[in-house]
Amino acid sequence: MTEPQGGSDPKVFTCRAHRHGVGSWRLNGRKWFSSNARWASFFIVMAVTDTEVPIYDGASMFIVPRERAGIHFIRNTGLIFDAPDEGSEGYIEYRDVPLNDSDLLGGAGDAFKIAQFRLGGGRVHHAMRSVGLAAKAFDMMCERALSRTTQGSPLADKQMVQAAIADCWLQIEQFRLFVLRTAWKIDKYGDYKRVREDIAATKNLAYRVVTDVVTKAIHLHGSLGLSNEMSFGEMLRAALAMGIVDGPSEVHTVTIAKQILRKYEATPGLFPTSHLPARVVAAVNKYHSQLQLPGPKSAWVEYARKLQPDGTHAE
Ligand SMILES: Cc1cc2nc3c(=O)[nH]c(=O)nc-3n(C[C@H](O)[C@H](O)[C@H](O)COP(=O)(O)OP(=O)(O)OC[C@H]3O[C@@H](n4cnc5c(N)ncnc54)[C@H](O)[C@@H]3O)c2cc1C
Repeated sequence: MTEPQGGSDPKVFTCRAHRHGVGSWRLNGRKWFSSNARWASFFIVMAVTDTEVPIYDGASMFIVPRERAGIHFIRNTGLIFDAPDEGSEGYIEYRDVPLNDSDLLGGAGDAFKIAQFRLGGGRVHHAMRSVGLAAKAFDMMCERALSRTTQGSPLADKQMVQAAIADCWLQIEQFRLFVLRTAWKIDKYGDYKRVREDIAATKNLAYRVVTDVVTKAIHLHGSLGLSNEMSFGEMLRAALAMGIVDGPSEVHTVTIAKQILRKYEATPGLFPTSHLPARVVAAVNKYHSQLQLPGPKSAWVEYARKLQPDGTHAE
C-alpha cells in the first residue's frame, strides 16, 4: 500500500492542523493541484483537525494568507501542453504554518459541509461553461464543414460529416436542457442535496459531451485542427479536465446510481413485481367483469395462481 492520498477519496486526507495553545493551530501537510496558487494572495486549505470523530465532522477549512511562515511551493505543475515553467497547479507543502481561530472558514469541523455546498454550485457551473465550450467547438465545426471542399464538394455534403454534425447538435441540445433543468431544480428546492443525482449527471455529461464534440471538431479540421493555429488544444484539455476536476466521472456515476436506487424497493417475494403470472392474477381479480371471460372468476383466479409458484403479489 502506498501512502494515503486524498484526491477522489477525501476521507483519507492526511494534511493536519493541530491545536497549538488557546485559539491557535499549526498546519502540516502537502497539497497537490492547488489551482492558480502561484498568483493567489491566500489559500483555502482543508485539513483534518480532529481524529477522534468521523472524518466528515473532523475536518476544517482555513483561509491561509500567502505570506504566512512555513508555506513552501514544491513546484508549480503544468497541465498537458503547458511548457515546463508554465504550471498553474501549485504543489505546496505546509510546514508548521501558524493559524488562528480567526483563520477558520466556518467553524471547526465544518469542512465537508462547506465543500459539499461549494461543489454543488461549482459542478453545475462547470457544466454551464461546458455547454458554451461545446457550442463554440460546434460552431467552428459547422463553419469548416461548409468552407472546406474535398473530392469536388464541401465536407458539409458528405453524409458521414452530416451524421457527426447532427449527433453533436443532439448531444449539445440535450445537455443544455439538462443543465437548465438542474439549475431550475436548484432554484426551486434551494437544496443541493435534493438534486444530487442531477448535479452529478451534469458533471458527467459535461465530460462526455465536450470531449466528444471537441474531438469531432478537431477531426473535421484535419491537420489544421491539430495545429497550434487553432484553439482546440485548450478546448480538449478543458474537456478532459471535466472528467477529473471536482471528482472523477466514475464517482459521479456511482452517486447517480445510488441516488436513483434509493427511490426503489426490493421485492419481498421470490419473483419480481412485474412477473407476468402475478400480473395475471391481479388483472383477473381486478378486471374480471370487463374481460368477459367464460366461466366464473374463481376458476380464472385459480388458473392464474397455478402460473405463480410462490403466491406473492397475487392481489
Ligand atoms: C485541472 C484541475 C484542477 C484542480 N484544482 C484543484 C484545486 O484547486 N484544489 C484541489 O484541492 N484539487 C484540485 N484538483 C484535484 C481534483 O479534485 C482531483 O484531481 C480529483 O478529485 C481526482 O483525484 P486524483 O487526481 O487524486 O485522482 P485519483 O483519485 O488518483 O483517481 C484517478 C482515477 O481513478 C479512477 N477512480 C477514482 N476513484 C474511483 C472510484 N471510486 N471508482 C472507480 N474509479 C475511480 C478514475 O478513473 C479517476 O480518474 C484539480 C484537478 C484538476 C484536473
